[in-house]
Amino acid sequence: GFPATTPGAWRVEVALHTPAHAALDDRLSYTAPAALPPGTLVRVPLGRREVLGVVWDAVPLEAGSSEQGAVALKLVAAALDDLPPLGSAWRELVAFAARYYQRSLGEIALAALPPQLRDLSGVQLARRLKRRRTGSEDAAATAAPAADATPEQAEALRRIEAEAGPFLLFGSTGSGKTEVYLQAVGRLLARAPDAQALVMVPEINLTPQLEARFRARFGSEAVVSLHSGMTNPQRLASWLAAHAGQARIVLGTRMAVFASMPTLQLIVVDEEHDPSYKQQEGARYSARDLAVWRGRNEGAKVILGSATPSLESWHQSRPAEGDDPGGRYVRLAMPSRVGAGALPAVRLVDMALQPPKTVLSAGLLDAIGQRIARGEQSMVFLNRRGYAPVLACGDCGWKSECPHCSAYRVFHKIDRTLRCHHCGFAERVPRACPACGNPDIAPVGRGTEQLEEHLAELLAPVHRPDGSPVRVARIDADSTRKQGALESQLAAVHAGDVDVLVGTQMIAKGHDFRRITLVAAVNPDGALFSSDFRAPERLFSLLMQSAGRAGRDAAYLAAQGATAEMWIQTSHRDHPLFAALRRHDYPAFAQGELTERRAAAMPPFAYQALLRADAKTQEAAQAFLNAASVAADALEGADRVTRYPAVPLAIQRVANVERAQMLVESDSRAALQRLLAQWQPLLHGLRRTPEGKGVIRWLIDVDPQQI
Ligand code: ADP
Ligand code: ZN
Ligand code: ZN
Repeated sequence: GFPATTPGAWRVEVALHTPAHAALDDRLSYTAPAALPPGTLVRVPLGRREVLGVVWDAVPLEAGSSEQGAVALKLVAAALDDLPPLGSAWRELVAFAARYYQRSLGEIALAALPPQLRDLSGVQLARRLKRRRTGSEDAAATAAPAADATPEQAEALRRIEAEAGPFLLFGSTGSGKTEVYLQAVGRLLARAPDAQALVMVPEINLTPQLEARFRARFGSEAVVSLHSGMTNPQRLASWLAAHAGQARIVLGTRMAVFASMPTLQLIVVDEEHDPSYKQQEGARYSARDLAVWRGRNEGAKVILGSATPSLESWHQSRPAEGDDPGGRYVRLAMPSRVGAGALPAVRLVDMALQPPKTVLSAGLLDAIGQRIARGEQSMVFLNRRGYAPVLACGDCGWKSECPHCSAYRVFHKIDRTLRCHHCGFAERVPRACPACGNPDIAPVGRGTEQLEEHLAELLAPVHRPDGSPVRVARIDADSTRKQGALESQLAAVHAGDVDVLVGTQMIAKGHDFRRITLVAAVNPDGALFSSDFRAPERLFSLLMQSAGRAGRDAAYLAAQGATAEMWIQTSHRDHPLFAALRRHDYPAFAQGELTERRAAAMPPFAYQALLRADAKTQEAAQAFLNAASVAADALEGADRVTRYPAVPLAIQRVANVERAQMLVESDSRAALQRLLAQWQPLLHGLRRTPEGKGVIRWLIDVDPQQI
């Protein structure tokens, strides 16, 4: 720290996160006795507290200066100058994200830093850095050699080296995309040993297997992870190693896009279509989109990988045709599975032809039974956890509504509770109908718990090759609540201790299961008729991803004499989505969707933002939105931006808060951005008007994923 009596010779602007300043300009001025370079981490007084901040700018005060206000400024309490300052590229990324997503600079900057930076002194931090530096020499010694690239992989790698990108690696499930990432990183480090690479995955539960593959290839010292499932000391250690340029490879979830990496040269976004890349609270940024921006700004190559790309990325990678110069991304295709593996055959079961109330068709049960008898594994998924989505009384019509939300509470049989999946409110299941006293209240519909129970019953007559009984297991958010539970459940599947795995979409993504030869979706129809225009895109990708879990090991299939199958139970077998899915034809599906989107002027042919208001009453929330719309009329360029009427959210009330939103849309991203930037200060003011009364909070969601 500085001696408190030294008069400040410099005025420094510090980015801070203070709720009171959120979304306003939150750079506060302080003085410092010495020049602090931009990017220096500092501790500064704020009210009675001392908070962490980032120096954004510093200007000298002339000797004896009477510069306005300078006298009143407080002194910076301490500078963490044992650490290198955050680089200009990092600060540009933060500034861009703040501007684009309509948040404050300090909020983005501070959220991007590990929480422990707030508590440790510069000396303590420097000591931690040094500790890592000793013990890192023999990194390369442990590295395992790369596999020989397949011709498709070799061609993708050649173009990644030769062209600037950004690249969309459009590779089937099991085509070896991860191997391309590994080899792209390998080639980079061979050429530039000091370079850094950032590799992102959508879900925390996919990081352990990715980490294992990268560590095996590059040695464990070269690789660090960054995600919210880590302890604070782990996160700090990873962050410091990346910031100091010691870690070559940073693996992480969306938060990792903000990692400080001074020599970043390659960014990989795996499963780039995954909605998890969009942060859904606080600053609602898209890590995928920021990765593309960051790559361009820092001259780092960007690879977006997927078997079912987002329609945005697909459109952006379209080839030139006629007058259309094509998209900005380079599309690289890897259609084949490694090792001559074939994608599973897709079989549709027409549920309209099944006896009423059929949960699992006889054909599907029979197919699963045959796999069990041969010692193979099956995976059955249903996107609904719990035992039943509703508990109901047949006499009076009572249903298990949540008293705090406009939603039903889900029946969990395991602990006999009714639980709200929106606000968390939980109660013991009543013995009789709370409205009329009828003791016969019954579950309606089904969730994964019931499916697991059902399958175990129906498969009881089947035996494994050694005559032992069938083992059914379930993986979903409920079964994996305890730390380490998911890892041990996945390990049991990999070890062959499970015959039939039941679960939610959690099991559909990414996992490299070797002995699964059948995958089934038992009730995917809901998404076909959702009000969300992205629902078909999500469903298609989920079904393709799930299909991708079957028959991944061609040698195993051959040895078993088995073929891989994906079963889909549907009452709408003629839906065009299923026709494309049967042929594993993502391009045909994408073309159909894009034609509809273009005709309806929807993304990617339009740019959207949502203004959302939460209030005690729906009227108050909508009054705020309507007043905001009126205020926007006067703004420059307002005629290029369409504002739709305020509407309640699909789940209108959560935890006694009423929610409403207004869609704002333009065919020009720049026009939308200009309007939002001017609107933002008006919205702050509006909170204090009669229309703003009762509004608990409002927020802007740019490029929303859920409408
Ligand atoms: P994706 O990420 O596209 O689903 P992976 O990279 O996980 O595919 O590859 C699928 C499987 O094929 C993995 O078990 C991987 O080790 C193996 N594999 C990938 N590339 C090769 C290669 N060139 N030679 C041999 N095996 C490979
Ligand atoms: Zn009743
Ligand atoms: Zn609730």
